Amino acid sequence: LTSSTTGERLHVIHIAAEMAPVAKVGGLGDVVTGLSKALQKKGHLVEVVVPKYDCLQYESIRDLKVLNMHVESYFDGRLFKNKIWVGTVEGLPVYFIEPLHPSKFFWRNQFYGESDDFKRFSYFSRAALELILQAGKKPDIIHCHDWQTAFVAPLYWDLYVPKGLDSARICFTCHNFEYQGSAPASELGSCGLDVHQLNRPDRMQDHSANDRVNPVKGAVVFSNIVTTVSPTYAQEVRSSEGGRGLQDTINTYSKKFVGILNGIDTDAWNPATDPFLKVQYHSNDLDGKAENKAALRRRLQLSSANDRQPLVACVTRLVPQKGVHLIRHAIYRTLELGGQFVLLGSSPVPEIQREFEEICDQLKTHEHARLILKYDEALSHLIYAASDMLIIPSIFEPCGLTQMIAMRYGSVPIVRKTGGLNDSVFDFDDDTIPAHYRNGYTFLTANEQDFSNALQRAVNHYMNDADSWKQLVQKVMNLDFSWESSAPLYEELYHKSVSRARGRK
Ligand code: ADP
Repeated sequence: LTSSTTGERLHVIHIAAEMAPVAKVGGLGDVVTGLSKALQKKGHLVEVVVPKYDCLQYESIRDLKVLNMHVESYFDGRLFKNKIWVGTVEGLPVYFIEPLHPSKFFWRNQFYGESDDFKRFSYFSRAALELILQAGKKPDIIHCHDWQTAFVAPLYWDLYVPKGLDSARICFTCHNFEYQGSAPASELGSCGLDVHQLNRPDRMQDHSANDRVNPVKGAVVFSNIVTTVSPTYAQEVRSSEGGRGLQDTINTYSKKFVGILNGIDTDAWNPATDPFLKVQYHSNDLDGKAENKAALRRRLQLSSANDRQPLVACVTRLVPQKGVHLIRHAIYRTLELGGQFVLLGSSPVPEIQREFEEICDQLKTHEHARLILKYDEALSHLIYAASDMLIIPSIFEPCGLTQMIAMRYGSVPIVRKTGGLNDSVFDFDDDTIPAHYRNGYTFLTANEQDFSNALQRAVNHYMNDADSWKQLVQKVMNLDFSWESSAPLYEELYHKSVSRARGRK
């Protein structure tokens, strides 16, 4: 172990609804694992608490065993037993909570999207704190994420500090302010929180109605540190458009609010060692990248006639945030420009899923386009490796990981300048930006014309100047998007908060 650069060893416990690769829906899962590994590498004790979903990817958990303890936690006026499992994921100690509750909260064959999600996750937040208390742990930092574990912040101060779990500072990271988990105020009481105390405009009351509560608002109010996932997004959510009703609360607490750009887990995302690829490769040996492109084309039955035909890809959840109309436009525009297009994406929104199924059907036998409408981790790796460009035309994007993953695999990102995309992708043709920063193609306005223009500039570059394109590919592959630069920023926030608390004591 290397030791921490900024002081003593901290004990950090993450409480989260996702953790890659065992329970991943999107970027949240990647961040919990990537940040935890980076902090552990710096010598801190990092543990993670997640629900024991039936749909966990069990083969990624080492030494999973049930502990010889039952944690009892409160819900709806009584106590329920929880089985506690422990195992190692990516070298991190992880606790899995299995509630012995008749509603079988985590036996639903999916992570989210259940009608009782508010109950499922308020239950889990309380059980996680109960586990920490009953196990006698004394963490310095409890780090919760998104609305699902936002309940931890008010629960900690209102119920657990009085019970003696008072060693910790609370850090809350909001990965996307679109999802705030608001619900009728009456539901808040189930996990033991005091509805009358909390359903107030300066506490957890939702902006939309005075009989609704908002867990994310509660976490902003009650946490010691509040972060979001990029500096640009941290600015955007202070406005009414970006803040989704929370802008006033965020502005009130601006002193403890900061945007830190996510990193990616460079062990999991490494073209030189990636077991999902046909051939591993690195920036000095791009033949391997070409072999992956050939392999993907064969696998998807796309034409292999022209090696120099650009392959444009998109790997995404298909939700309005991601600019679905622009993604649809890119499919046809890429074909017009003489490229090939591959989409890997699935949608929780039935109309969007149906719309893309229709396009998928239409293009079923097309030799230059393929849509794969599902979640497929292994295929995503091959697509990053095989593609020449990756599009991310998001309407808003708190951080975005796919642009960073794409670059690491030598796929040049074409992105809308918003949120974390604005902090990580800089236009190749923009003379006002120092040349060494320029690493992709960007556009500002979310319309087909501006996006088309960026796509066309990228395709032209690829087709007309192979040497310069190769240099760009090598450059983006060598950029550092690891947690090495972002983890120390969290470490510093943790340390400062812990010292402030000790100073007061
Ligand atoms: P978000 O969290 O909004 O979904 P991010 O860019 O932060 O977006 O993270 C997306 C993560 O999910 C990336 O690791 C990406 O590779 C992965 N991903 C998205 N859609 C799919 C899919 N259909 N199949 C496999 N992986 C996917």
